[in-house]
Amino acid sequence: MTEGIKVRPARTAEIPTLARLVENQLPDMMAGRKRPDNIEGYLARLIPDQCLMLATRGNRLAGLIALDLDHTRVLACYLDPETAAPDTPRQLFGAVEKLALSYGARSLTCQIKKQVTGFMSTIGYETAEALDGDGAVVVEKNLLAKARPELKELIKLLDELGIPENYGVRRRLKLIPEASTLVSIGPDIFNRDQRLTPAAATAWGRMRSAAANNGIDLQLVSAYRGVTYQVNLIRRRLNEGKSLEDILKVSAAPGYSEHHGGRAVDVTAPGCKPLEESFADSRAYRWLKSNGGIYGFRESFGMANRHGISWEPWHWCYHHRPGR
Ligand SMILES: [Zn+2]
Repeated sequence: MTEGIKVRPARTAEIPTLARLVENQLPDMMAGRKRPDNIEGYLARLIPDQCLMLATRGNRLAGLIALDLDHTRVLACYLDPETAAPDTPRQLFGAVEKLALSYGARSLTCQIKKQVTGFMSTIGYETAEALDGDGAVVVEKNLLAKARPELKELIKLLDELGIPENYGVRRRLKLIPEASTLVSIGPDIFNRDQRLTPAAATAWGRMRSAAANNGIDLQLVSAYRGVTYQVNLIRRRLNEGKSLEDILKVSAAPGYSEHHGGRAVDVTAPGCKPLEESFADSRAYRWLKSNGGIYGFRESFGMANRHGISWEPWHWCYHHRPGR
């Protein structure tokens, strides 16, 4: 048993095995929750958001943790006493805390068995409420306590603007760190210089040339935009008398825009109105749908997307493809 423990999101194909393990009463650190009747269905719902994490040693399961993202609550943390290492629960909690924080969640709660209160306090959970009767305790961790200063600063800005605390969680949008290195990709249709990360810039250049060879003129509306840009945009709209709710229907909250990462472009074509759904009727859009993937670009907010964001056929984001 010299192999280390690795923590990773569970895969759909593993659900039946995991459900059997849960049914076989692996010890759970959580308390006071009835096991769901349909464990497989229940676990499967956690997969798309990576809210089911496994600790493995080689091909053996050492533990699993389940996160209810909507309520920022840890649902279960099972450990296999034979395979788990003393540090395994800490690793599992660390993984879901990182995940919750990536959606901008500020705290995590869980209802634990009384006997694990000591352990939970060593990983930063404080007792919020002691429940009489069944020996359960509700504990809570402030995820921002040890967060990076830039993140604390951003949260302060979001609060000032009145962005709801659960904005990222509800829309399943992650915080996107601002790109650190940017290079020019030339002017946009308003003659402003635009920038992307070096990798995204190269991919954009290649895609644009390939489109031009097919008689398609891909034009740029916008590329990198920092957090400050987004804050000013929202302040301007608020000053114009628009409600925050309406503003957030068409603009991402600061910190959550893919444009911060320097990998997203808003594209238009001659004869199209920029940033309008009608772009979807253009030849340029059809070309992007067929060819964008070859250059690493994906449409982020398709028709009826899981973020509940209106269709943005003009918004394409470059995703690193490993091994190329
Ligand atoms: Zn965009």
